Amino acid sequence: SVVVAGSFNVDHVWRCDALPAPGATIAGRYSTGPGGKGFNQAVAARRAGADITFVCALGDDAGGALARQLAAADGIVLAAEASTEPTGTAGIYVDSRGRNSIVIGPGANASLSTEFMAANAALIGDAGVLLAQLESPVESIEAALGIAREAGVLTVLNPAPANAPSSISLLKLADVLTPNETEFAALLGRHVGERVEADDVAALDGASLHALCRKLSGNTVVVTLGAVGVFVSHDEERLRGDSQPYYRVAAESVQVVDTTGAGDAFNGALVASLAQAPDAAFIKHVRFANQYAARSTENEGAAVAMPRMTPADAG
Ligand code: ADP
Repeated sequence: SVVVAGSFNVDHVWRCDALPAPGATIAGRYSTGPGGKGFNQAVAARRAGADITFVCALGDDAGGALARQLAAADGIVLAAEASTEPTGTAGIYVDSRGRNSIVIGPGANASLSTEFMAANAALIGDAGVLLAQLESPVESIEAALGIAREAGVLTVLNPAPANAPSSISLLKLADVLTPNETEFAALLGRHVGERVEADDVAALDGASLHALCRKLSGNTVVVTLGAVGVFVSHDEERLRGDSQPYYRVAAESVQVVDTTGAGDAFNGALVASLAQAPDAAFIKHVRFANQYAARSTENEGAAVAMPRMTPADAG
């Protein structure tokens, strides 16, 4: 089973011709639905076939009720800390070229506590895999990873968003670290003084990318490269069943409608696969997550766009 620890937001999305300039008032096509990296990843992992408990913090309001209702509808078990803050929100503008501007209201997500993680230590310790992101207080995420590590649970950290605080000691708690290009460049700049532009990451040769990954973590690093695919880098002593210390997996070619939540789809599918076949070679999990994430871009939205596809379906 998988424990996902992280954020839930009510997303408010406006699709407009152009993003509003300061002082402007414009019209857009509105929709609302569930979001937050934690919840998106929990839904993906669930629809990829894993038993999921989602550890989060919710307000006593309509957003909190929505989270409970949607979790139940997907068969996700909730371990929700009750917050006096409003449930998390996101205001998202998307232009006709698919570019976005986002404002997050962390609300209850900011009150997910270390004490709540400690109270759920048995739950976390019983899991096969723990997946976390950085849209929640960093000390609480560090506590969850520490509890899992102590109990011998495989830990996966998606170090997102890119501007979230982090430390090398936090990164070391992850058996698998899954930055996208932007997060990878940010972590390199912040923690090991390597200046790499996010846009240049995918074009680097394998040996250079591997060397950069090794500076960041002693464990496995999976860099997601959007439409290019994925780069995987292992510690030479811990290949996790793979034959190569580093390799690329090319993205699947699909009719892309909306890439929002592709990274969340990838992370959810990766942990679902790891939990269902812990002894399989790591590349099998990466291939499945790469297929699953590609499928998720064929529909509009994040959590609602997560496909129902398990590693068995993918073959
Ligand atoms: P994020 O959503 O965090 O920016 P990425 O853009 O790196 O993450 O996407 C995560 C994964 O989703 C990629 O590694 C790939 O597997 C898949 N993916 C993203 N965009 C595409 C695309 N245009 N075509 C096929 N697969 C994609």
